[in-house]
Amino acid sequence: ARRADSGGIVVIGLGRFGCHLAGSLTRMNREVLAIDRSPAKVQRWSAQLDRVVQADATEEGALRQLGISSFGRAVVAIGASVEASVLTVLALVELGVPQIWARATSQKHAKILASVGAHHVIFPEAETGDRVAHLIVSRLLDFIEFDDDFAIATVRVPESLVGRTLLELKPEERFGVRVVGAKLPGERFRYTSDDTTLPQGGVLIVEGGIDQVQQFAGMR
Ligand code: ADP
Repeated sequence: ARRADSGGIVVIGLGRFGCHLAGSLTRMNREVLAIDRSPAKVQRWSAQLDRVVQADATEEGALRQLGISSFGRAVVAIGASVEASVLTVLALVELGVPQIWARATSQKHAKILASVGAHHVIFPEAETGDRVAHLIVSRLLDFIEFDDDFAIATVRVPESLVGRTLLELKPEERFGVRVVGAKLPGERFRYTSDDTTLPQGGVLIVEGGIDQVQQFAGMR
């Protein structure tokens, strides 16, 4: 059995978001302790997850008994009840959990979470909506947004750029993006060089500011 240590992750709230998160972390071989106050939820996930316990996470004493203070990270995945989510973050702060991630359902909710001490606030619904919108309307095939206005994306080669070399195009000067990889359909990505020609029907790996990457992907 894996030992509870600072590599472990506590996931609180096994709703639609929390159960997927806990499942993914488990498949990534992380030690996960999942907590929900509903006995039915605990019952439902106990076969798929290593450790699922029933507890009210707003109760600091209950969390303490579960040994939460020895975990390096906790994610509060409760969405519907702002009160339960805020009180849970507060309890985790009191227990000294070093990295607390919390899910917000509105900007106000996010503000409260940050002010009681959450280290990372996430908006799964809003973020997924944004991401899917990008994927639908542009040549973007995949899009990863990082903090501090940086993104990496895979993009279909815009028609108007087919057959040009990167030396001619100077994408960094003209579009504010760097084209780091290129491939033809069915082939593997290769790193680009100045003499890389943008292939018809090809796919590029592009990095840069979020707006710049989106604009590049929106080109015809
Ligand atoms: P989703 O939109 O992901 O389904 P919900 O907010 O509907 O999210 O579900 C949150 C989960 O958190 C539910 O399974 C609920 O039982 C659980 N939950 C709510 N409050 C607490 C609490 N105080 N302690 C532990 N689990 C809680």
